[in-house]
Amino acid sequence: MENKIKEVVEEARRLLKDARTTQQLEELRVRFIGRKGRITALFKELGKLDKEKRPVVGKLLNEAKTTLESELEKALKERKRAESRREKIDVTLPGRKPFVGTLHPITKIAREICSIFQRLGFDIVEGPEVELDYYNFEALNIPREHPARDMQDTFYITDNVVLRTHTSPIQVRVMEQRKPPLRIIAPGKTYRRDSDLTHTPMFHQVEGLMVGEKVSFGDLKGILTIFVHQMFGEDVGLRFRPSFFPFTEPSAEVDIQCVICRGEGCRVCSHTGWLEILGSGMVDPEVFKMVGYDPDSITGFAFGMGIERIAMLKLGINDLRLFFDNDLRFLRQF
Ligand SMILES: [Zn+2]
Repeated sequence: MENKIKEVVEEARRLLKDARTTQQLEELRVRFIGRKGRITALFKELGKLDKEKRPVVGKLLNEAKTTLESELEKALKERKRAESRREKIDVTLPGRKPFVGTLHPITKIAREICSIFQRLGFDIVEGPEVELDYYNFEALNIPREHPARDMQDTFYITDNVVLRTHTSPIQVRVMEQRKPPLRIIAPGKTYRRDSDLTHTPMFHQVEGLMVGEKVSFGDLKGILTIFVHQMFGEDVGLRFRPSFFPFTEPSAEVDIQCVICRGEGCRVCSHTGWLEILGSGMVDPEVFKMVGYDPDSITGFAFGMGIERIAMLKLGINDLRLFFDNDLRFLRQF
């Protein structure tokens, strides 16, 4: 009898190991400890045993039953847990998208600026970042003694070669190669020895130039007004404020109504309601003479702006350094 019990328990355990579904486990329960199960059948045989043997075998049978019950219970719980885990996976849900890189905000704003001028008939041109002193200064009417050529501001590579301090030399290079009329827009990196909250040693500019037989200050105002309205909105006011640049005469800086306070006055616009966004002017006849244009028959205007400045105003960013920190949390917003 003891051996029989042992065999039944071992068989039950073997089958338990192979059971794969809750249904199979339920079947095992019925087969071994159900009302007509193998263990229950053994209980019925107790009566045939000798009186003194009955309690010993009865105890063994009870133990076998309890053990099998708890092992079955445990296996069932595990199975159910595993099945509910599997049910929770909804294969119809869309997958997680891997993050795809985007254009840097400076690149985006530069392209936006260029595309506005392209629609107005301007060609995109580029020039070298390592530039001859002649193109960076001299041909732009900035002679040797001019304060803009201070070693404090310019990265000199040799006495005669600099990292361009503005995109204006591109104007000169283009005018040397092409005959008027022309309309160009020239984006690019520029370099100055400056580093603080509002300056970085490398920054970006866009230069524009329109030259022809009857290009007037009215054209300058018209083109730049269209630009401001397309870039910042039709309702944004702008004003032209007299200024000075060595390579334009007359010169004007362009202010737009503060994009933060809409002209009311706030910290960003120093409570003036206006923000300076670009410099412009009629090309100085001296510059035309340098490139072989006849200043008596040819006129034109030029303008230049900092792309970081435009991006900060357009995107509402108050710290220039964010553009160059390469912090993905910042960059992913654009
Ligand atoms: Zn303001």
